[in-house]
Amino acid sequence: MAKALLLDLSGVLYDGDVLLPGALEAVRRVQGSDLEVRFITNTSQKTRVDLLAHLRGFGFSVEEPQLFTAVDAARQWLQQRDLRPFCLVHENIRGEFDDFEQDDPNAVLIADAADGFSYANLNRAFQLCLEGAPLLGVGYNRYFKSGGEVLMDVGAFIVAVEFAAGIKATIVGKPSPEFFHQVLASTSASAEHALMVGDDVFGDVEGALNAGLPACLVRTGKYRPGDEARIDGDFALVDSVAEAVELALAAA
Ligand SMILES: [Mg+2]
Repeated sequence: MAKALLLDLSGVLYDGDVLLPGALEAVRRVQGSDLEVRFITNTSQKTRVDLLAHLRGFGFSVEEPQLFTAVDAARQWLQQRDLRPFCLVHENIRGEFDDFEQDDPNAVLIADAADGFSYANLNRAFQLCLEGAPLLGVGYNRYFKSGGEVLMDVGAFIVAVEFAAGIKATIVGKPSPEFFHQVLASTSASAEHALMVGDDVFGDVEGALNAGLPACLVRTGKYRPGDEARIDGDFALVDSVAEAVELALAAA
């Protein structure tokens, strides 16, 4: 029985600046039901404020506390440990870390830095990690889709630093079970009474299953034929977020 619906953003509700067909109506439909909705994303090229504006620009009605981002989770993780991060992040979100002391860093934060992934920056991350700085990754995604093309995501860059320094990163955001549990804690639903909907078979679906949540893979966004065979476990496969919402409502 579904009581909470967790929706990934990019590739589920929109693709870049294009709203996906039926997404607006689907979200309205579920918001008019008893299901609690949460919006969750690993996107690290937009600030929380920009993400809310992006969603609202499409016409989605999103309350500020309903949005959970991996960037917020990273901020919390660093704050709790009073760390000084070397921030290998996109220019768009650099300001999100302005309140951290960043001189003489003792931690490394890697998010989707796009063109910021220069040799100099990756090497600096590697050198700090080799000296013992913890490595924090915002998501572990392989690729994402935007503006009609697939783009390399943060995962491979985190793996590069892990490999060179011989360490393991701590991952915040999806697929970390802690992230799913943090989102769930804001609802009245337990894991088995939630449904995670996403277009990333690893980050969204496998991550949710590992956290104990039922999951639904949508054939939109970055979905590629055959993705459903790339992981083990039982999950639903549907053509759109509208179908996923029908599934959740039928089970509510
Ligand atoms: Mg997605």
